[in-house]
Amino acid sequence: MKKIAVVGAGISGLSMANYLEKYKIDYHIYERRKKNDLSGHGFLIPKEGMDYLYQIIAPDLLVKNGNFLKKYTQYSRTGKILAEKDLDNVFAISRHSLINLLAQNISPEKITYEETIIADEQQKGKLQLSDGITVDADIAVISDGSRSRIRKHFFMDETMTRVRESEVVNIIQNKEISDSIEKDFIKFHHEDGGLTFGVLKLSDDTVLWYSQFDNQKYMINECSAENLRKYMLDVFENWHPLIPEIIQKSDYTNVHLWNVYELEKLNAFYKDNFVFIGDAAHPLIPFTSQGVTSALKDAFSLTKYLVEEDNIQQAFSKYEAERKPEIETHIHNGRTLLSQFLLPLNQQTENIIPISYK
Ligand SMILES: Cc1cc2nc3c(=O)[nH]c(=O)nc-3n(C[C@H](O)[C@H](O)[C@H](O)COP(=O)(O)OP(=O)(O)OC[C@H]3O[C@@H](n4cnc5c(N)ncnc54)[C@H](O)[C@@H]3O)c2cc1C
Repeated sequence: MKKIAVVGAGISGLSMANYLEKYKIDYHIYERRKKNDLSGHGFLIPKEGMDYLYQIIAPDLLVKNGNFLKKYTQYSRTGKILAEKDLDNVFAISRHSLINLLAQNISPEKITYEETIIADEQQKGKLQLSDGITVDADIAVISDGSRSRIRKHFFMDETMTRVRESEVVNIIQNKEISDSIEKDFIKFHHEDGGLTFGVLKLSDDTVLWYSQFDNQKYMINECSAENLRKYMLDVFENWHPLIPEIIQKSDYTNVHLWNVYELEKLNAFYKDNFVFIGDAAHPLIPFTSQGVTSALKDAFSLTKYLVEEDNIQQAFSKYEAERKPEIETHIHNGRTLLSQFLLPLNQQTENIIPISYK
């Protein structure tokens, strides 16, 4: 089997590494960040994604690190229940925890941190380390995220657009709030649309809260922790008292503002001996809650065809044929969820659950 270089140790790169381990395929993974630099948000993972995760992470260990959500309740801004829906084994986990779990099966000599990889300008089909040395690999699996520089190198005329929704996400330690919400996923909505506040429990004493907002209506110029705190206090001042209370009680060490981007049109998922997985192949907006599941399925499908096919191009082509239609469905569903979110509440008609199902 050929030698594989994986660029990026996010969810998709680490999932790929786990599947390659399973099949004893030779690989090395390169990651730009420091090993323990794992700030970030959390994931909702539907049942299908969990089935893929169980193949590579011991189920009891995985379950111990997150929380199964049982019910989704949609509230008005003032706390009136608008709709309720049972959730079928939707799991919540912080990005930090999931990355740590996925990384634990990778031996330290197979992963290099603090290494930013680029496509080699001089040698077609090769990657380059930051010191200019060419990476010794036959196949490059590119998993460097939604704003992939390597993808841009190959598909120079692609158009990325900023999505009309941003998110302030915070992860806090607070046992009292965590105990009070248990298995519920609650989300409050402004009657004019374009503004929500969601809360869910990640573990015994950890809570994730987030605000999704229409970035044409609500603007934050600078995203320091202090500014984000002020923004949250101003915007949610007159909402149900639980929300200002959570905002007041929160520590802002982990708060982050996420701006979201999408590709106007998907590119091919491969070019020469480079193949793209996860957000690098297909950025998915947070509304779909399908980024992790899709990254896992990409890694599974690509590994399967690399094992089955002698010819790399055949393997890549089968991978793309299997994955692209489903991704297009999620992109379509994501755009529908986004347009619903921007409408006043009384005009929102679609499925209330913030998850795209095939
Ligand atoms: C606010 C928000 C909420 C979300 N909520 C959910 C959710 O509830 N459920 C869900 O399934 N998905 C969710 N998503 C989407 C999910 O985060 C992504 O789909 C998923 O993280 C994609 O993983 P990835 O590995 O492809 O990319 P990334 O997680 O972006 O990882 C890319 C990695 O590549 C590294 N890298 C980048 N460039 C280089 C380089 N040149 N050399 C080496 N390394 C490099 C980066 O440091 C990073 O570690 C959400 C996204 C956002 C922004």
